[in-house]
Amino acid sequence: MGALSSSVETQPVPARNVPGTAAHLRPLQVTWEVTRACDWKATPARMARTRRGKEEFSTVEAFNLIQEVAAMHVPVLALTGGDPLSRPDLFPIVEFAAQRSVRTSLTLVPTPLLTAEVIAELKASGLMRASFWLHGSTAALHDGYAGIKGSHARTLAMVGSCHEVGLPVQINTMFSRRNFHDVDPMIELLTRLDVILWNVFFLVPASRDQIDELLSAEQHEEVFAKLYAASKRVQFQIKTSEGQHYQRYVMQQKMRESRGSARQSEILPRAPKNLNDSKGYVFVNYRGEVFPSRYLPVSAGNLTAASLPELFRESPLFVSLRDSSRLKGKCGTCAVRHVCGGSRARAYALTGDLFAEEPCCAQAL
Ligand code: SF4
Repeated sequence: MGALSSSVETQPVPARNVPGTAAHLRPLQVTWEVTRACDWKATPARMARTRRGKEEFSTVEAFNLIQEVAAMHVPVLALTGGDPLSRPDLFPIVEFAAQRSVRTSLTLVPTPLLTAEVIAELKASGLMRASFWLHGSTAALHDGYAGIKGSHARTLAMVGSCHEVGLPVQINTMFSRRNFHDVDPMIELLTRLDVILWNVFFLVPASRDQIDELLSAEQHEEVFAKLYAASKRVQFQIKTSEGQHYQRYVMQQKMRESRGSARQSEILPRAPKNLNDSKGYVFVNYRGEVFPSRYLPVSAGNLTAASLPELFRESPLFVSLRDSSRLKGKCGTCAVRHVCGGSRARAYALTGDLFAEEPCCAQAL
């Protein structure tokens, strides 16, 4: 995925004396794309590659990555794909992580490879949480996006299989213009499905074709309002990905509700405060390349040449992205830039500048 603009500032500026290079700094989540292989055909939601490649991380390299995650005390290692079940060593990988007290979540794809027995085996191997993509409350919405007829019904069946063995379930949803009207029905569905976490993604266009699908700043606010209202009544946790300005929305609402008497430190969301591209989050692709976000295609380096702590704590890319003084436009002067900072992935996708203002924020300055 490349930037969609010819106005380019792709090179991270060398770090100044920036807080955040301390030895104790650690991600709150590392996501590792264990493979890009998948039996299902490519769709807008999936990767084009369908076969396992030689450049995919070996089992030994996977174990090294898990050791580094364990040594950094990262709270969650999220395993994703492709279809992770395409890797024959998936069960040993999950077991190896569990033996080192690394809590794993695993994104499962409801292909014929996934059965109730496989889910039971994953649970027995020490998997902490199963995660599924569900892009709509109805089959028409989800199957249309996934490009696979029947995948909505099969995903719901597999969620049931997770409950049968006591494996907690997370649902991921990508919102764009095609489905943002579906937030409330999704909340009803997820309540019935008894999930523990809803990870709400906001589109970062991967190509010029997808720009029309991008939610406007006002439409982001509409979704935020529904998420915030739901967060007060539902049992499951709601988290946003590439929707960093939801934190600003929550703070504004809490400030309003307290009639201005609350301090900023009292109204920060309970969810991880700095889970942003480079702050608290790392994406490792199937070849070991390390990125600040799955949707930000600028690599900090490869794990075959440098360690995860080195790249996260000291690479010029990660260090410069943690420096909110580099932000431009309205993000650069925004009072909550240290907490929010906007989606660096979306800014880069639309402008080619890592530090440009978040293109879809309604914050008035
Ligand atoms: S202007 Fe930027 S930093 Fe401020 S709330 Fe919006 S996205 Fe976040």
